[in-house]
Amino acid sequence: VKKKAGKYEKQSQPVNQTAVLGAGIMGGGIAYQSASRGTPILMKDIKDEAIELGLKEARKLFSKQVERKKLTAEQMAEKLTNIRPTLSYGDFGNVDLVVEAVVENPKVKDAVLTEVEGLVSENTILTSNTSTISINRLAQNLKRPENFCGMHFFNPVHRMPLVEVIRGEKTGDAAVAATVAYARAMGKTPIVVNDCPGFLVNRVLFPYFGGFSFLMEQGADFQHVDKVMEKFGWPMGPAYLLDVVGLDTAVHANEVMAEGFPDRMAREGKTAIQVMFDNDRLGQKNDKGFYAYE
Ligand code: NAD
Repeated sequence: VKKKAGKYEKQSQPVNQTAVLGAGIMGGGIAYQSASRGTPILMKDIKDEAIELGLKEARKLFSKQVERKKLTAEQMAEKLTNIRPTLSYGDFGNVDLVVEAVVENPKVKDAVLTEVEGLVSENTILTSNTSTISINRLAQNLKRPENFCGMHFFNPVHRMPLVEVIRGEKTGDAAVAATVAYARAMGKTPIVVNDCPGFLVNRVLFPYFGGFSFLMEQGADFQHVDKVMEKFGWPMGPAYLLDVVGLDTAVHANEVMAEGFPDRMAREGKTAIQVMFDNDRLGQKNDKGFYAYE
């Protein structure tokens, strides 16, 4: 699959100025990674608090680099200027590539993508960081679906090397090429995958979360399961991973998977993961999930 990504790389149009929509867990991480590798990025959200959190996270990650003497304080200050926080679409006319990273809700994504398509230039590539929603489904309302594809990062963005570049039925080569090139410029390993709910990684991961949920419903202790999976060799167990992902994101993503693969993914009644979400236990983003955070 790597070869396939390499094939596109040489054909890319320049990706000098980018933008991310949403300054949450993923948007903040994408902004940091882009800025850190030298590609300027506008970081847009609808909430001031979200922008502040996104910037705080980026500052924290840069500060760690300074502590480890990988960056000087001057270099950190310079890299931080690559992130331009904004609540408006004012400067979107000059953006080469946009990564949409708002909440995992098809209606919200449709609204955001069609809005931004009307503001950018004809050649701007639009991408979505959706975890599960089909790229063909999101392309339906776009005027230039050839300029649209998936760009799926993993959490935490600065540590996870893989990026899935998802090719929809109408996606053109230029969109894939620019997205592959941008992923490489960010120091990531892009793979080009076909479109379906969950793409490649989440088609494996969500059935695993489903299996974990069954165990919880049968009375298993989540800490015990986490320890066992760590001993098995995984860097973290499913409960901790769900806290990192966000229980809200996991529930919304699972709904999309259940719709796409009803025979395998649809469940009667509430899952243990849904119950956590109903009780406002969202994971690390609100300091309480399976585990408690400070
Ligand atoms: P999050 O809830 O942390 O952040 C979402 C952000 O989008 C919030 O700051 C919110 O204010 C903002 N937003 C909402 N509507 C907006 C709009 N109209 N314009 C601009 N900003 C808007 O969510 P997240 O975990 O960062 O997930 C974002 C996307 O990335 C989702 O599609 C999710 O499925 C995907 N994703 C998440 C993970 C993960 O592990 N959390 C991993 C890969 C992909």
